[in-house]
Parts: sequence; structure tokens; C-alpha cells
Amino acid sequence: MTAQRKALGSHRRIVIKIGSALLVDRQTGLKTRWLEAMCSDIARLKAGGIDVLVVSSGAIALGRSVLKLPSGALKLEESQAAAAVGQIALARAWSESLSHHDIVAGQILLTLGDTEERRRYLNARETLNQLMKMGSVPIINENDTVATTEIRYGDNDRLAARVATMAGADLLVLLSDIDGLYTAPPHIDPEAQFLEVIPAITPEIEAMAGGAASELSRGGMRTKIDAGKIATSAGCAMIIASGKPDHPIRAIEEGARSSWFAPSGTPVTARKTWIAGQLAPAGELLIDAGAEQALTSGKSLLPAGIREVRGAFERGDTVSVIGTAGQEIARGLAGYDAEEARLIAGRKTGDIEALLGYSGRAAMIHRDDLVMTGPKAQEAREALSA
Ligand code: GLU
Repeated sequence: MTAQRKALGSHRRIVIKIGSALLVDRQTGLKTRWLEAMCSDIARLKAGGIDVLVVSSGAIALGRSVLKLPSGALKLEESQAAAAVGQIALARAWSESLSHHDIVAGQILLTLGDTEERRRYLNARETLNQLMKMGSVPIINENDTVATTEIRYGDNDRLAARVATMAGADLLVLLSDIDGLYTAPPHIDPEAQFLEVIPAITPEIEAMAGGAASELSRGGMRTKIDAGKIATSAGCAMIIASGKPDHPIRAIEEGARSSWFAPSGTPVTARKTWIAGQLAPAGELLIDAGAEQALTSGKSLLPAGIREVRGAFERGDTVSVIGTAGQEIARGLAGYDAEEARLIAGRKTGDIEALLGYSGRAAMIHRDDLVMTGPKAQEAREALSA
């Protein structure tokens, strides 16, 4: 079966990554007209009920132009300083242009640890979700002012893919000056063929992207394929398209050339497969019959239904949920540390603030972070895959 490309408008949550060259001109600075057009594309997606997140490059390029730094490679501390200057201007430009469509922008600056360390990952995810609940558009970039060589992404392609998985997006659009994936570099090989649909990222596809990324090829095809691997394996489709036209999103909708990478599964199934596959849950939650019933009907696990908490785990660790028959019936990501879980076990959600001293989340395990694993769930899964 060939993977089917879905219309842009049929997605739920889209991450758009914008390369520096689209936003910033070395001589004249910010490309305001392009940004305005981009924001009207975003406004249209949002009017269609789609959540939009933007990963915007351009801090260093813009800072360079404001500081009038000579062309050529920058030292790390120079690019950090350029980013500090450029990021302010960049965020302000986004905020202003989006406000013309009555959209509020929120700035998020991430470092590698924020997406790779579980606790920080959950915190960043929470902020993204909250911004989207409030209808605002997160404008995200790497925190280039503090990122050093060892602890940085360096390219926004992979950062955008991590943001897409973190936000549970179902589409990632990478906009740059490249319109998609070719079987070979088109400027070198006249035989190079354009690939419109990539059903899976095979070793052959990887080979087409060329060698490893370097400081010079930052944001080249290699990092785009790496981004594709991160996104598609988390159930998120990816499009590589040229951002050069004034309304790049509209252009894609109207059929402009672009490469589409098929997702494997959906964001939720990919997440759940990962949770179910965790080898050693860090703790156990013993639950009562009422909670067991609630989980079976697809609800979250609330503190009220927990009878006992075993083990030492941290928020975000995978824990095993034990049913009344004494067997594991589900697994999920704990919304609280073990100590906190003990304090709120058996208590009503409304009591959490008084018990912990802060108002935490309502669920001990949110249903998006929960997967049924008992014998019945297994039978159902086998029946589905038969
Ligand atoms: N984070 C960098 C910036 O805003 C861009 C990284 C990239 O071009 O991929 O300048």
C-alpha cells in the first residue's frame, strides 16, 4: 500500500520550521514582507482550527546584520552575542506581524537538555500545550546565547522535529531554499530525480542526503533526513518545501513541488508503543475497581483510584498499573514523583493543592500517556494486526 499524502488543512497540529535565509537578508536585514505573508498563511491555518507552532531560525543572521559583523565564520562567543541581539528583534517581529491577525505569540528558547532530559522535556511540553490551549502561537528557537558546541543542536531541523514530537504534532513542514529531496544533489548531477513521496526512510534514502552534517552544511539535507527520522517514527509526517515564494504554505496547498515523508502510525500510537515497550517500569500503582473500570473505558488515572504506590520513581518515569487481580493492566508516564504520589493517593483531585502546596495536574497518568497492557488489551491488539 502506498502511503497517502493528506491535504495540509486536514492536520490537527503543524510545526513550521523556517530557515534563516528566508527571514533575513545579509544586507537589508529582516524580510518584513515575507514575514507578513507567512503570518497570514499561519492565520489561515489557525482559522481552520489547526494549532500552529513555529520554529524560527534567524537570530544569529539578524544579530550579525544589526551588529554589522563582517562576513565569514563567527567564533562561538561572537555567534552567541549575535544571537542575543538578533533574538530580541526576531521575536518582536513575529509578535508584531502575528498581532495584525489578532494572534498572540509566545517565545520559547530551548537547549538540547530541554528536549532530551525527561523532566525538562515534560516541563517544556507543558508550556507548549498551555500556549496552544490559549490559542497563541509558540515561536521557538534554540537558545543560542548559552548553547555551547557540546550541548547544542546547531541546526533547527532536528530541533523542529523534537518540538513536533514533544507537541504531538501530526505534520512538520521544513521551509528553506531547498524544495525537496532528490536522488542526488541536483546542482551536481543532471540525472538527479525529485522524490515526491518517501514512504519510509531507508538506508538508500539516507545515502541520498550525503555525508554527516558539519558546521558548514548546517541545515543541509543530512539534518533534514535526521529530522525526518525523528518525526516520522513518532507518527508525524514531514514535508520539505521551498520557502522562497511569498506565501509558502499557500503554495504547498496549491500544489507547489515538495517532498512528503510518510509517518509511521499516529503521534498517539507511536507514543503508546514506546511506553508499552519500556523494559523496566520504575514503580507500581495499585488501583481500585472504579479506576480499573475508568482506564478500560479510555479515561485518565486519577489519584482517587490509587490504593498503593510502590517503588521510587520521578515524574515522567514509566510506571506499571496493577489491577484488582494483582496483575499489570496498563503502563504509563507518571504525572508525579513517587513521594508526591503517596501523598495524594486515594484523595480527590481537588485536594491536591492543599496536600502538595501547589496545584499540580489533575491526573496521576494522563490518558495520552497511558497504554493498556493486560491480557485483554493484548488480545485486542493481536486481533487488529491479524
Ligand atoms: N538557531 C539558529 C539561529 O536562530 C539557526 C540554526 C539553523 O539555521 O538551523 O540563528
